[in-house]
Amino acid sequence: MSAKTPVCVLGATGTVGQKFVRLLADHPWFEIAAVAASSASGGKRFGDVVRWREQSDLPPAIADLTIAECAPPLPGAVAFSALDADVAGPIEQAFARAGAYVVTNTRTHRMEPDVPLLIPEANADHLVLIDRQREARGWSGAILANPNCSTAALTLALAPLHRAFTIERLFVSTMQAVSGAGYPGVPSLDALGNVIPHIGDEEEKIERESRKILGALGPVGVEPADFAVSAHTNRVPVIDGHLETVSVGFRRRATPEDAIAVLKEFRGSPCVAGLPSSPNPPVEVDARADRPQPRLDLDRGRGMAVTVGRIRPCPILDLRMVVLGHNTIRGAAGQAVQIAELLVADGRLGQRT
Ligand code: NAP
Repeated sequence: MSAKTPVCVLGATGTVGQKFVRLLADHPWFEIAAVAASSASGGKRFGDVVRWREQSDLPPAIADLTIAECAPPLPGAVAFSALDADVAGPIEQAFARAGAYVVTNTRTHRMEPDVPLLIPEANADHLVLIDRQREARGWSGAILANPNCSTAALTLALAPLHRAFTIERLFVSTMQAVSGAGYPGVPSLDALGNVIPHIGDEEEKIERESRKILGALGPVGVEPADFAVSAHTNRVPVIDGHLETVSVGFRRRATPEDAIAVLKEFRGSPCVAGLPSSPNPPVEVDARADRPQPRLDLDRGRGMAVTVGRIRPCPILDLRMVVLGHNTIRGAAGQAVQIAELLVADGRLGQRT
């Protein structure tokens, strides 16, 4: 009998859902016990419905699963949610009420005071919010949120700099891949040979989520970090990978050499660094003049490492740099799996094999 912890994937047919299926197929601690999607897919064989877009083969055992509807009970101590945000709220709450740890990629619950918004290397201490959440809501499970994809890469890169120098002002302009819009996503006639200077609500998400992640635990939730953020977001014709150009001002003086040293030394806590999905190091610094690039640098740390390059002085703020992260791995499924691993390492879930 398998000693792995059973999990289910909600929204398993979508872009992020497929990434979950691929990452969980050979996971050392978890195994997929159920896949779920909309009622249009429910009752059908997963392999017959999914438009599989991953580069590895769809695992036969998962292809043969019958797609469930997104309602408890489903087998699985963890429910990974890759649901369309418009429908996620009540579904995720129902699973948490029924006793599952819901690790969600949707925007729905991210800013609620008792929901941790996690990047394990940056703020694993916020995990304790689930104790308040379960008590306040009377749930036997809990909801844990993954940040928005562009926020995840940006904030992982900034976390060690904020810890060392304290961010005061932040300017970021993103170039975001089309896979960030799900499937089928942005029409090809809009995306190809073009740049679209608007992604709905994305700038607001970066501005509020980065401050929550880098904030401190307070009596009611998280006190947001005290810095100003100005974000510009753009959709570019790249398949995977969000590239972000960043200017940042600090309360304590920081030279490029200081920042490079801090980023190179950065590791999560030993507990986080030892998780199966944790890259080592979590932030890679690339000194080459024309890096990072999505096509060349996206898969570092199996898509979980963020690459930072072009760290140089800024004539307006203190430093400028370029940040690259994988939107469906570090920005979605990969980090959600890492959060579930953190639950195991923290003694809240299952047994390690
Ligand atoms: P997607 O490709 O459009 O997939 C959406 C999934 O939701 C599909 O499995 C779909 O099932 C399911 N669904 C739709 N309506 C449903 C309903 N009424 N009941 C149950 N299931 C329903 O979207 P995605 O890009 O994977 O994104 C999923 C979530 O992750 C979104 O909230 C998104 O904002 C977030 N996110 C995405 C990224 C990214 O890079 N793509 C990154 C971070 C966060 P059917 O196939 O049956 O319709």
